[in-house]
Amino acid sequence: MPDSVDSAVQFTATTPDVPPPSAALRRGREHYFPQASDAEWNDWRWQFKNRITTLDELERHLAIPEAERKMRAEVLSDFRMGITPYYLSLIDADDPADPILRQVVPLADEFYFRAVGEEDPLGEEKYSPVPGITHRYPDRVLMVISNNCAIYCRYCTRKRTMYEGATPDVEIDAMVDYIARTPQVRDVVVSGGDPLNYSNQKLESILAKLRAIPHLEIIRIGSRVPVALPQRIDDELVAMLQRYHPLWINVHFNHPRELTPDAARACDKLLRAGIPLNNQAVLLKGVNDSVETIKSLCHGLMKMRVRPYYLYQCDPVRGAEHFRTPIAKGIEIIEGLRGHTSGLCVPTYVVDAPGGGGKIPVQPDYLLRYDERAGRAVLRNFQDKIYEYLEPGYLRDVISPSRRTPPKSASKPHSNGVAAHPKAASNGKHEPHSDKVVGKSRWVHKGASPKRPKKS
Ligand code: SF4
Repeated sequence: MPDSVDSAVQFTATTPDVPPPSAALRRGREHYFPQASDAEWNDWRWQFKNRITTLDELERHLAIPEAERKMRAEVLSDFRMGITPYYLSLIDADDPADPILRQVVPLADEFYFRAVGEEDPLGEEKYSPVPGITHRYPDRVLMVISNNCAIYCRYCTRKRTMYEGATPDVEIDAMVDYIARTPQVRDVVVSGGDPLNYSNQKLESILAKLRAIPHLEIIRIGSRVPVALPQRIDDELVAMLQRYHPLWINVHFNHPRELTPDAARACDKLLRAGIPLNNQAVLLKGVNDSVETIKSLCHGLMKMRVRPYYLYQCDPVRGAEHFRTPIAKGIEIIEGLRGHTSGLCVPTYVVDAPGGGGKIPVQPDYLLRYDERAGRAVLRNFQDKIYEYLEPGYLRDVISPSRRTPPKSASKPHSNGVAAHPKAASNGKHEPHSDKVVGKSRWVHKGASPKRPKKS
């Protein structure tokens, strides 16, 4: 079994700009923590206790330019730092722009942009009927039960809530009570912070209360522990979690270098316990904002049997402006994946609407024109070739045009009689033109009557 798990991450050795993770990890641990024994290194409690949380501790491992010291200290007064030795060991100490480093080490950019952005960019507080619950969608809620994480991501949307210390039981009970008295809630996302930072006993007491609610069908846990502290996913934790099925876990890998043998083993343990894993990556400038990096990430996730689920546009949270990319970058990445690799490798790219509008999927325009009345669509494929598709309604029109009544919701046609699909945000790049159409529906030709069977 370990062989198959290790082989899950070998793919990166063939990617020129990504060093083999197992070798990088080995070098990293020797470089940063030569004194750590195997027993210590593989003990999640040791990892947690030895997190890097101050600039002095950080400086023992990574150089800090003198000119930036004050800026970084100020940034830390806004939002804490936490880096497990394991996650630190993934950082290339010789590269100040290392994509793993950028995610967790406060940099001068964060200081320059510290006044830009919002405290609560998704309006979670606005949709909060009781503290800790966000009820934005009709049948599911977010339940924030923890305010600390194994690592603190510099772009975190919820950085406003982070402080050490457990959420009081009375608050958690009030969240459970809200779900219990709200019958339309059939799905809860238990998040934080990181719920897997709790002891097994504490987490189990919460899961048991949730599972006792008859109308609650699905429990999902959002966690970055498999990425930042994979040692935490041990047999005892997994045995406890699998008592609360159907239970899903959303993980959060952003870069292929995070797909180490340790992370693969942690995911494998969860999957073998029947817990499906979905990845929620965040699109981050200087970390993963290229087709090659996201493709490599998604291929690696698939090898670990983790589904690439969402690619999030980075939220405009305070202090994270330097991570944000234009939406065009996300569209370009999806364009570079769709059709160029298996559909299972293509996450849904979403923009979480500011102020609480929820996730809005965004993708390249493949439906160039749609005339609902005529039953005709003009589509573009992944190679940029244009195709005409005729709907069943088109055939009915040919047989008996008089039977056709315009649908109430029909779009107003343009002067050429072809209406743009109301939901297709054309970028003007792909104007359909008859000589560009390389494929058409073949089962009926315009103007020709379909053959009918002769009466006997
Ligand atoms: S692990 Fe998640 S909740 Fe914790 S700091 Fe990172 S993004 Fe925020």
